[in-house]
Amino acid sequence: MTERTFSIIKPDATERNLTGKVNAVIEDAGLRIVAQRRIKMSRAQAEKFYEIHKERPFFGELVDFMTSGPVVVQVLEGDNAVQRYRDVMGATNPENAAEGTIRKLYARNVGENSVHGSDSAENAKIEIAQFFTDDQIVG
Ligand code: ADP
Ligand code: MG
Repeated sequence: MTERTFSIIKPDATERNLTGKVNAVIEDAGLRIVAQRRIKMSRAQAEKFYEIHKERPFFGELVDFMTSGPVVVQVLEGDNAVQRYRDVMGATNPENAAEGTIRKLYARNVGENSVHGSDSAENAKIEIAQFFTDDQIVG
């Protein structure tokens, strides 16, 4: 089933000029980048985006990190895109990530872990709508 997921290339990756390398892993996995924009997230945007984690001890650190530099927000499309991208990203903590995954290849640590990907089709819709209008997505 063709579906869409939301992706962010995080500040630790843009800082190291890894946008193209991350995109190559995404495209090699059969996912199509159907929308993409480089932005600096505002605090309000980051706090809203990670609202579900607001009680977690790392929330402040996470918002600081996500607003510390440019990010690339993306919409990815493909067969089972949500799960496929989670597989391509690898485990949250790069120490636990499988070989060949983006986080194994590039993440610095559990916080600065290079990429975000939606965890369900429902959340993908909500997250995409926070950064893109329908006409900005060209499938
Ligand atoms: P994922 O991004 O794999 O879905 P979570 O939803 O659990 O992971 O966490 C969201 C983000 O919060 C992570 O990608 C990471 O940037 C950050 N994070 C998660 N756990 C920790 C932690 N223990 N310490 C610092 N940052 C964390
Ligand atoms: Mg998550």
